[in-house]
Amino acid sequence: MANFSIQEIQGQDHALRYVEKYLQNTNRIPPLLIFYGPDGVGKWSLAERFSFHLLCLNSTGCGLCPSCKAFLSNSHPDYIVFPSDSKIAIGEEKEPSEFTIRWLIAKRINFQPHLSQFRIVLFPDASLINNEAETALLKSLEEAPKHTKFIFIVNNLSKLKQTIISRGICVPFYYLKKSLLKEVALNKGLYLEEFFGGSLNPYDIPGEVIQLSKEMVETHIHDSIALLQLENWLKMYKDTHPEWKEDFNYTTFLDLVGLILIYYYSQNNYDQNIPKINCVFEFKQGLIKNIANLEPYLLSKLFYQLCNLT
Ligand SMILES: [Zn+2]
Repeated sequence: MANFSIQEIQGQDHALRYVEKYLQNTNRIPPLLIFYGPDGVGKWSLAERFSFHLLCLNSTGCGLCPSCKAFLSNSHPDYIVFPSDSKIAIGEEKEPSEFTIRWLIAKRINFQPHLSQFRIVLFPDASLINNEAETALLKSLEEAPKHTKFIFIVNNLSKLKQTIISRGICVPFYYLKKSLLKEVALNKGLYLEEFFGGSLNPYDIPGEVIQLSKEMVETHIHDSIALLQLENWLKMYKDTHPEWKEDFNYTTFLDLVGLILIYYYSQNNYDQNIPKINCVFEFKQGLIKNIANLEPYLLSKLFYQLCNLT
């Protein structure tokens, strides 16, 4: 069963306290929440989990109700996630295209949520909202119906207009402490040097597959185009794994690749790579949940984050 608990977000006690308070008393959720702080420390993960719980028909994030099921299969009609890789425009007055502000207002906000008590509109990178769109959005923020809640994510508050900031509640996120990262690694039995130096192979994966994965990571980790090639290779590997025909477990394989990524990121510029390592941990946590067919989504999210940080 999916857990997807907000407690899985580590080292962000401050943000967690806000979110818990709002989930306990949904009447107090403001029309706009602004999650801000460095990349790769859990903003998006917490926004997702918060939404998952808020939309749940049992108000628990049960994982079983129609809302939870729709959410986990990326098809929740009341969970609108704007693109995080292109500018967000105001849109045409007549027939505005999807994921423009006019589309959001005319085709979504004006209607009741379909499935849940609330609708959530998430901007994973609110700095992508262009000027004109931002102005149009201001009005909706002021007049947003009670059922629609906005979440803006941004790595620096200065990327938002003061007029927007003043309409929201700003929730701060911080860099994770090095000690916490180490603790997470140890708790999960991921002590890397030991794993690679020792003979212990907890994955039961053939040596040649480990070797191939190490080579792929090593040669593709340094720039974003190569990273995208690695992402494609990993996605295709699900169906093309000649070395390993029997008992192939794609999730286990991806977990191993996550470990190798962490290993390389921790080898040099460890401090600089902490946000990337964090993203990989989030990826691995997603895998642990074992939700069918979630891997491509988790991979896309991971590589999008890694490319942005590279
Ligand atoms: Zn539920």
